[in-house]
Amino acid sequence: MLYPWQHEDWRRLNLERARLPNAWLFTGLGGIGKSAFAEHLAQSLLCDRPGPEHAPCGECEACRWYALGSHPDFRRLSPLLDEDEEKTSRKLLTIKIEAVREVIDFTHLTSHRNGQRVVLVEPAETMNPAAASALLKVLEEPPPDVLFLLVAHAPQRLLPTIRSRCRQYALAAPGREVALSWLREQGMAMPATELAHHGGAPLFDHDPALAEVRDGFISALAKPSLASMLTQAERVDKHKLTLAVPLEWMQKWLHDLAAQGLSGEIRYFPDQQDALHALSRRADLMQLFRCQDALLHLVPFGQHPLNVRLQLEGLFMDYLKVFG
Ligand SMILES: [Zn+2]
Repeated sequence: MLYPWQHEDWRRLNLERARLPNAWLFTGLGGIGKSAFAEHLAQSLLCDRPGPEHAPCGECEACRWYALGSHPDFRRLSPLLDEDEEKTSRKLLTIKIEAVREVIDFTHLTSHRNGQRVVLVEPAETMNPAAASALLKVLEEPPPDVLFLLVAHAPQRLLPTIRSRCRQYALAAPGREVALSWLREQGMAMPATELAHHGGAPLFDHDPALAEVRDGFISALAKPSLASMLTQAERVDKHKLTLAVPLEWMQKWLHDLAAQGLSGEIRYFPDQQDALHALSRRADLMQLFRCQDALLHLVPFGQHPLNVRLQLEGLFMDYLKVFG
């Protein structure tokens, strides 16, 4: 399936079919549908009766298998929680070498249906170093009739040698109006607020209960007081959110606060413009950068089961110092 804003990218890609590479690397902002696009391509290549514009028919045997996730000539490499690292300070989602090896074995089999085989790797930047070098070896000597589709939000984190083995393809983010109308079609309340909060990328998990916690949290940041911040820390704790969630909210808030002071252009919280304007006039920029630093130090621990309330309270103390 393609999203409404992807048709131009799809037409552009179809022009390159005459000389398909062994590997594509799809890049672009998170939350714009890169994986869906790569999957559309995979299904289109496996489909027995593709229609106009190479669209998969959705009805043939291959398409039915694909929809069930059981097409024998298709493999997907996605991250799993890294068990080995659970006892250390970080919990990371990684693609590990065992999974890559399995896929390599698959690429050396012959196709079940005498056609193309497709391997989707997403997000490719989550391969750990061993997995990445194993994949690189395959990309250097690609087996015939195997197409690799790599998807990355942060391609700079891939090995340069992997990047150079792929044909890079930047996918466009939707314009604001297109994204808003799509969100409205999905029945979302307050689409403009949500879209801004997600940096203009329309694909995100929307949880109204979580949005309510976030709005309370942001309101407290907008009118900083010790009492309200302690209440928010407690609330986040009560909802059993991982630290990553409030950190992301606060990171975006601090971004807008700094941007308001420096350029007057805010990105994530346009509905809080007045509050941001008033706060930025009171803000000590050095303290604001210190608070951003303290936050960045916590980001690697976002999935770790440490005391979320305690960490947030510490961060709020730094935030209050921004306003003297
Ligand atoms: Zn089909």
